[in-house]
Amino acid sequence: MDTAEPSIFSRIVAREIPADVVFESDRLIAFRDIAPQAPVHVLVVPKTEQYRNVSELAAGDPGLLAELVATASDIASEHSDGDYRLVFNTGAGAGQTVFHVHAHVLAGGLGEDTLG
Ligand code: ADP
Repeated sequence: MDTAEPSIFSRIVAREIPADVVFESDRLIAFRDIAPQAPVHVLVVPKTEQYRNVSELAAGDPGLLAELVATASDIASEHSDGDYRLVFNTGAGAGQTVFHVHAHVLAGGLGEDTLG
């Protein structure tokens, strides 16, 4: 997209940098956020970095977005009681820092101030 450099999440997919991976499929990877904002804080990430945000993903591959949501739900059930928040920060003004679409799955004893 803006640069030829792989995103930090592509480097996790390639196992160039370590991560605590909790799920992997052909098209998705999920790993624990390095700076958790809730007892369970997992990022669910398409392996492709061609979509910068959830709007691009929804327009470009809605099936992959549906897979991502189903995976988020499974993770919340596996790691907590099944209740979860799903957060997509979209755009720098909304706090997005990694422009490789990813969902924050937040679960487990959620308080009122858990959004990062
Ligand atoms: P924000 O940094 O405001 O949460 P994003 O929505 O773009 O913006 O989220 C990027 C997320 O990626 C952050 O929650 C950050 O803690 C996480 N993160 C960055 N580097 C790593 C890494 N190497 N391993 C796991 N999580 C990471």
